[in-house]
Amino acid sequence: MRQHVTPLLSPAVGTRRELTSFHFGETARGQTDSQKIYIQASLHADETPAMLTAVLLRRRLAALEAEGALASEIVLVPVANPVGLSQHALGQFIGRFELGSGKNFNRHFIDLAKLAGDVATRFGSDAQENKAMVRDALRSGLAAQKPLTEFESLQLALLTLSFDADVVIDLHCSLEAAMHLYTSEAAWPEFEPLARYLGAEASLLATDSGGQAFDEAHSLCWWALQQPLPDSTPLATGIIATTIECRGQRDVAYEIAQQDADAIVEFLRARGAIRGEAKPLPPLRAPATPLAGSEQFYAPVSGIVVHRAQIGDTIRAGDPLFDIVDPLTDETTTLHSHTDGVFYMRRAIRFATAGAPLGRVTGARPIRTGVLLGA
Ligand SMILES: [Zn+2]
Repeated sequence: MRQHVTPLLSPAVGTRRELTSFHFGETARGQTDSQKIYIQASLHADETPAMLTAVLLRRRLAALEAEGALASEIVLVPVANPVGLSQHALGQFIGRFELGSGKNFNRHFIDLAKLAGDVATRFGSDAQENKAMVRDALRSGLAAQKPLTEFESLQLALLTLSFDADVVIDLHCSLEAAMHLYTSEAAWPEFEPLARYLGAEASLLATDSGGQAFDEAHSLCWWALQQPLPDSTPLATGIIATTIECRGQRDVAYEIAQQDADAIVEFLRARGAIRGEAKPLPPLRAPATPLAGSEQFYAPVSGIVVHRAQIGDTIRAGDPLFDIVDPLTDETTTLHSHTDGVFYMRRAIRFATAGAPLGRVTGARPIRTGVLLGA
């Protein structure tokens, strides 16, 4: 295991932060059968369950490396957001948005397809050679970036560590949630085993959720480059990426973090990135559904939120999910599901202001368009 430190742009005189990455196995570059796996945790800094999973994963990867069991290069960034990690206001940990700018740390990553420029005009007939050309273009494009802010330098540092990976796993957590993951339709067949090992209760698919999040910065780049190509100049997909929500923010426990770290190791074994036989695939707990099919619930009025369903519950259309009780008039408003699905996440609030988002249930039919992710 090698430890690497990337200094971030200093935001103010006398202040400097750095991004630490751990590198396992041999570098994959130049060997056609070798993979590079990139795993990061807690890009929204206050995502401690993901961080603990990364700690336990690092221990396992170090042991596997010592046994000579790694058949790939694995890069692990347990603290993907040292900037957000230091943001505390009035006793609250605020990791999702940069306090100074209000920007979400996991939105608006650089458009890598644009960064690759006109590389497609030089493509030949070999899909693998074209893939290598794209990676070269991305390498030089990223190296030429001049970030203006610490925020931009953090996003650039993460992309620089990950752009040439074959597999990107971005570990987050939600507010109060069941284990669930996001990926693209194209990558789902490859991540389906990971959903099984993790025991994911929802797998949400979208090609473009509209936010240019970290996982989609990678997957959309290759998808966008592939779309206009004629058959004569094929492009092999360079990267598959997924965002995993390691349950809710308070679900920090050795047992479940170990379970999640072990699941990732089994997935990497099944892919041949770690030597040895993978454990038999557990059943998929719930079929994948379109992210556009998830129903979002908003409080139509303000009041006390009383939950009528538990996280992970299987929901039928018509089932009550939330009561909102007006403490002055005693009027109770009940919100019901319009879809059959899994109640996979909800906000960690017990009092709602009017219009506040409350939670989501999966659905098999697309019902939403536009930006599919929350702010
Ligand atoms: Zn997150």
